[in-house]
Amino acid sequence: MRLAAFAVALCAMMPGVSPAAAAGVVRLYILDCGQIAAPDKARWTPGINIGVPIDVSDNCYLIHHAQGWFLWDTGLPDAIAAQADGVKGPFGFVMKRPKTLAGQLAELGVKPTDIKAMAVSHTHPDHIGNVEMFPQVMLYVQKAEYDWPNTDGTPRFNPDHPVTKIEGDRDVFGDGSVVIISTPGHTPGHQSLLVRLPKTGTIVLSGDAVHLKENWDDRRVPSMNTSKDETLASMQHIADILAKERGQLWINHDKPQSDAQKKSPQFYE
Ligand SMILES: [Zn+2]
Repeated sequence: MRLAAFAVALCAMMPGVSPAAAAGVVRLYILDCGQIAAPDKARWTPGINIGVPIDVSDNCYLIHHAQGWFLWDTGLPDAIAAQADGVKGPFGFVMKRPKTLAGQLAELGVKPTDIKAMAVSHTHPDHIGNVEMFPQVMLYVQKAEYDWPNTDGTPRFNPDHPVTKIEGDRDVFGDGSVVIISTPGHTPGHQSLLVRLPKTGTIVLSGDAVHLKENWDDRRVPSMNTSKDETLASMQHIADILAKERGQLWINHDKPQSDAQKKSPQFYE
C-alpha cells in the first residue's frame, strides 16, 4: 500500500480524523473590474481636494487555492462594457468597463461554475455588480452586511443565493492562506481579505476599508462611511496585521498603485 493510500485508510479507521486537505494559495490574479471617473475627490478626502477630479480603479481578485478557485469582489456590472463611453452614476460618476469579468475568467480558462467560493468586501454597486454571474457559488458575507437593507428597504442580495453569514473573521480554506478579516466602518459589515502567497508573502486586500494611499497615510475617513470610529479601528487592525507579518496593503481603488501592479493573465505567486 502506498503511503498516501495508507494514510487515508488509517484515517478511515479513526473517527473524526480526515486526510489532510490540499493547502495553500497557488496564484493570485488581479482582474480589471471597472474604472470610475469622479468629479470631486473630496468625496473621499473631506475638506481637501474640493472639486478636483479623480479616476479610481476597481479590481476583482481571483485566487487559485489548492482546493479550488476563490473570487474576491465582482466589480461593476459586466453590462456596462456594452457602453463604450461608460454609464453615468450617482455623484457625477462615469463608470466604464474596458474588460468584462466574464471575459477575463474565460481568458484564464475558468468557468463561473469552476469557482468554489466567493466573497465581497461590501455591498456597494462597484463591488457586487456580478454576484449573480455565480448563482450556485457559496458567498461569504458578514451577517451585519447581509442584514443591512438597501435605502428602499429591499435586501442587498438575492435571497436564493447560497450564503455563509459570518460574524468576525473566517479562515476560508482552514489553512490560514485566505482569511476574511472583519473591517467595519465603510459599511456596517465591511470586510477585507488576508492572503498568504508562497513567494509574495502576506497581502491584505483592502476592499474599501481605505480608498486611497493618501487616506491610509493620513488616516482620513470619507464622509460617506457609516462609522468613523469603526473605520479608524479597522485601519489600525489592518496596520497591526501588516506590521506583524511584514505584509503589503493592496488598495482596491488606488489607481496609481493598481496601475503599477501585474494584471491578469499575469499573476502573483
Ligand atoms: Zn468601492
